[in-house]
Amino acid sequence: MQSRVALVTGGTGGIGTSIVKRLAAMGHRVATNYRDESRGREWQARMKDAGVDVAMAHGDVSSPEDAERLVRDIEQQLGTVEILVNNAGITRDSTFHKMTPQQWNDVICTNLNSCFNVTRPVIEGMRARKWGRIVQISSINGQKGQYGQANYAAAKAGMHGFTISLAQENAKFGVTVNTVSPGYIGTDMVMAVPEEVRNKIVAQIPTGRLGTPDEIAYAVAFFVPDEAGWITGANLSANGGQYMGW
Ligand code: NDP
Repeated sequence: MQSRVALVTGGTGGIGTSIVKRLAAMGHRVATNYRDESRGREWQARMKDAGVDVAMAHGDVSSPEDAERLVRDIEQQLGTVEILVNNAGITRDSTFHKMTPQQWNDVICTNLNSCFNVTRPVIEGMRARKWGRIVQISSINGQKGQYGQANYAAAKAGMHGFTISLAQENAKFGVTVNTVSPGYIGTDMVMAVPEEVRNKIVAQIPTGRLGTPDEIAYAVAFFVPDEAGWITGANLSANGGQYMGW
């Protein structure tokens, strides 16, 4: 397989780290962002010890200016971005009647606006080269909704609307655009949920366990090879059978 330049946003997180490792194992040159330099460099050194070289650039993906700078920095280090995984995300849970504008905006800006902010500076390069792969990391809760997550569910459902529109606009240019919708994965984001609530969640998963970051990385990797060039506008659920709708 040809070695490509891949940018994974939020690559230092639980799922992101697995995606970075998997794309690197496929022979791609991988980059990600950091917000806190010392934590970012520490993670980069750990990856290097594990045999994975990752290019890094500073950037908050909720800011269009930062995202553009981040992309240009990565391009200087590695070349034109050919694979983009929009993975960075946060939760700020609250029932809607108590939700603050800040909780709403933080989640929409980080999970959804970031897709615009980071994809916009890479899309022209992909179209010009007639090859590109864009994968959004959405969520089961964008498919089925979730108590206490009106902001997150709206952002994650919006990511899929973004995917299917971009897929139509860019298919003729060899650029595929797809979504992976993970169910509950045992990362910090989910381990922060109180154990009692987590046990109730696991009880609803037919496989009887949380997913692993590597299982999500596998789903992302599925969309990347040349052989996947006819798969665009798809949403791949990776959720242990918890939700079997679209
Ligand atoms: P983590 O909290 O482990 O990682 C999130 C990553 O995103 C971190 O690298 C974080 O960087 C980065 N990030 C957050 N905000 C920003 C920002 N404004 N700008 C740049 N980077 C940012 O989360 P997960 O690995 O669990 O989640 C990854 C994705 O998967 C998210 O989109 C999440 O919504 C989705 N998901 C997760 C599920 C799960 O069960 N864990 C289930 C379904 C979907 P920093 O260290 O700077 O905060």
